[in-house]
Amino acid sequence: MPGYAQGSVPGSVPGSVLVIGGGWAGLAAAVTLCRHGVAVTLLEAAPRLGGRARALALDGLRVDNGQHLLVGAYHGVRELLVELGISEDRVFRRHPLRLDMRSAQRPWRLRLPRLPAPLHLLAGLLGARGLDPGERYRALRLCLALARPRAARDEDPPLGEFLRDHGQGEALQQRLWEPLCLALLNTPLALASTRVFATTLRAVFLHRRRDSDLLIPRGDLDAVLPAPARDFLQRHGATVRLRCRARRLLVSQGRLRGVVTADGEQYLAEETVLALPPAECLRLIRDEPACAGLRRQLEALRHAPICTAYLRYPPGVHLDQPMVGLLDGLGQWLFDRGYSGTPGIMAVVISGPGPHVAWPRARLARRIQEELADYFPRWPPPERSWIIREKRATFLCQHGVEELRPGVRSPLPHGWLAGDYLDTGYPATLEGAVRSGRQCAHAILAR
Ligand SMILES: Cc1cc2nc3c(=O)[nH]c(=O)nc-3n(C[C@H](O)[C@H](O)[C@H](O)COP(=O)(O)OP(=O)(O)OC[C@H]3O[C@@H](n4cnc5c(N)ncnc54)[C@H](O)[C@@H]3O)c2cc1C
Repeated sequence: MPGYAQGSVPGSVPGSVLVIGGGWAGLAAAVTLCRHGVAVTLLEAAPRLGGRARALALDGLRVDNGQHLLVGAYHGVRELLVELGISEDRVFRRHPLRLDMRSAQRPWRLRLPRLPAPLHLLAGLLGARGLDPGERYRALRLCLALARPRAARDEDPPLGEFLRDHGQGEALQQRLWEPLCLALLNTPLALASTRVFATTLRAVFLHRRRDSDLLIPRGDLDAVLPAPARDFLQRHGATVRLRCRARRLLVSQGRLRGVVTADGEQYLAEETVLALPPAECLRLIRDEPACAGLRRQLEALRHAPICTAYLRYPPGVHLDQPMVGLLDGLGQWLFDRGYSGTPGIMAVVISGPGPHVAWPRARLARRIQEELADYFPRWPPPERSWIIREKRATFLCQHGVEELRPGVRSPLPHGWLAGDYLDTGYPATLEGAVRSGRQCAHAILAR
């Protein structure tokens, strides 16, 4: 740990912490600090909390800024909810994982039986319908290879290469591994980090059966964390400022003392947490000589988009499970938002890069509608559709990415980092964001 100068920052409350950014990482850090009696001020540039996982209204319809998937293995998120006094049942419905991959040519599906982990996965794979016996056997062997803690620990080849070396043919890669890799890492197989993929699969499938359950929010994402966290912070005396953008850092005598906002206001604190997306963090630290190494890491991180199409059908249109996979076209996963309280609303997710990101909205919406009409010929045409494109939805989780991910201590004394891009071992997820925020808070408390 760097040798931090002790003593309070003039004008700041002794022991106070400033958190910049009210996404899930910043909220997790702020709540954890607040629970331990720390005076917290949180600044958020947007008019609402939640960052990339926030609710929004589309012509009066409450949806999220892109469809999100949460699983039982999100222990950080679940523990944070417990700390906020929220029972899991209040915000989520649990559904055992079922992979139902639709295709006109070769659909397949997998159910996980009620057996202890990892037997449930082994039995599920052996019984998968639509995969031939050779494919099932090879997929099983691959899972065993990834399950070994040493798998790709010392090196981190592209996942596509690792799969080829482990006998996973073209068809298996396209039908099984590519959809999973895009869903988990938002990164195409050919580029993806084998190490992060293995860590994620181990977390979801190896420890407890319930870790692989889907956690489907009962409403929008705001009700899961941002709203309860805001109430908690306000009840416990924290200051939350919305529409308050940090424009530059206040650094003097080599230590971080706070920020100046776009309105020219100064916020000072003993400790400052930058809970920002990597590009914004980069903008703030760019000119600090002490941050040269961090700057190089952040400059090398690339980003990947996610597009979500929301479609409104008559309320009777529904799926018999919360989500299905789509193998034949551009759309990759279809979610029935009826399970989150809005019957008739379907969300189609397209993860990762591709030319569609630059298409006009109308063209993308038409394409998705046509694809759904092929998969579900009995459905009436949708009454309306909306496209949400997040060009920087996550960092690109490419092989070797772990070397680019910083820890919670910033190179500036009294400065800290939180965010889904930190070195949690997880891909850019809500779980990674919350873990980083809690780790950061505990590191500050440990001082
Ligand atoms: C469309 C989409 C789909 C996704 N799907 C999933 C999924 O299925 N499952 C999953 O687990 N994860 C998913 N993710 C990823 C997940 O949303 C992110 O990993 C997570 O929300 C990141 O949280 P964060 O707090 O690290 O960053 P952010 O959410 O980006 O929070 C940073 C906050 O800082 C604020 N800010 C920025 N600059 C400033 C400034 N100068 N001053 C003050 N505030 C500032 C921003 O407004 C923002 O609120 C998805 C993301 C997207 C976009």
